[in-house]
Amino acid sequence: MKPIIAGPCSAESEEQILKTAEFLTTKTSVKTMRAGVWKPRTRPGGFEGYAEKALQWLQKAQQQYGIKPIVEVAKPEHIESCMQYGIENVWIGARTTVNPFSVQEIAEALKGTALSVMVKNPMNPDLHLWLGAIERIEKAGISNVKAIHRGFSSHRTSQFRNPPMWEIPIELKRLYPELELYCDPSHISGTANLVPYIAQKALDMEMDGLMIEVHPTPEHALTDASQQLSFAAFEELQKHLVQNNAICSDMQLEQMRVLIDDLDEELIAILSKRMKIIQEMGDYKQANQMTILQMDRWKTMLENRLKCSEKQGINTDFSLSLWRLIHSESLRIQTKIE
Ligand code: PEP
Ligand code: MN
Repeated sequence: MKPIIAGPCSAESEEQILKTAEFLTTKTSVKTMRAGVWKPRTRPGGFEGYAEKALQWLQKAQQQYGIKPIVEVAKPEHIESCMQYGIENVWIGARTTVNPFSVQEIAEALKGTALSVMVKNPMNPDLHLWLGAIERIEKAGISNVKAIHRGFSSHRTSQFRNPPMWEIPIELKRLYPELELYCDPSHISGTANLVPYIAQKALDMEMDGLMIEVHPTPEHALTDASQQLSFAAFEELQKHLVQNNAICSDMQLEQMRVLIDDLDEELIAILSKRMKIIQEMGDYKQANQMTILQMDRWKTMLENRLKCSEKQGINTDFSLSLWRLIHSESLRIQTKIE
């Protein structure tokens, strides 16, 4: 069975940490518990983590339940604190991986330690930045380095908080096959109900493990409340995850299918955005008493689109039918307004 790292987004109290450790060790196969103790927040002034106090709770959980804690580190001082509290596993978060200066500082602090380090992908879809961060940690002499795919920040509307863009982790695996690659379905999904779908996809793609946010009372969580699984939901997930999916034994085909799913989702998001602007144009035309169909504009538009499609190797007949269909839907949306 592939390993799962689970635990709350943030360590919020001793009780929360011990309760989670007890649950994970008695009801699941989880051996490593995650918890954020320094929380990088988008805006200042909110809950920023319990730092050393939380490391004490994690140390206690390790002593009482034998579960290994893993925490996020973002600065060299964090490494020192982890060592002080007997934490042996750390991860570098997406907001840190983007910055080679920060990663190098952390790498320097890691020199001579026996910590295991997981490197999350950077916020932006840049494979080389991710690889670069992994290399900096390895060059510091850390032998146990793994990667975590947590999706990528995107301006596009998507059902996911951080769309997975599977082509990037797939390429990482191709370039660096011996590197263990985990998936973090929680930060990809952004909502608890999508977590099982992404978790299964990751296993089907032969990822080496999962990191999942679990909280005793997700609705009261101080961070990432909407994406954390309740204990019951986590047990359910573990029960239903198919480890060796026979249908997906052809990996290459499965990976291509996932890429197509990703692209189709993008296509749908773009179409939806386009329709919204069409609707606004309809309102504008109506307010300014303009005709809906402006024949000259449509003719130039179509010519440009056909030329552009041809350049990209798209069949002209297909392209013509597609643009006619899109245009007729636009007209329908705009006429409905009147
Ligand atoms: C987290 O794991 O809670 C976290 C902040 O993750 P990321 O760096 O993926 O945003
Ligand atoms: Mn989180």
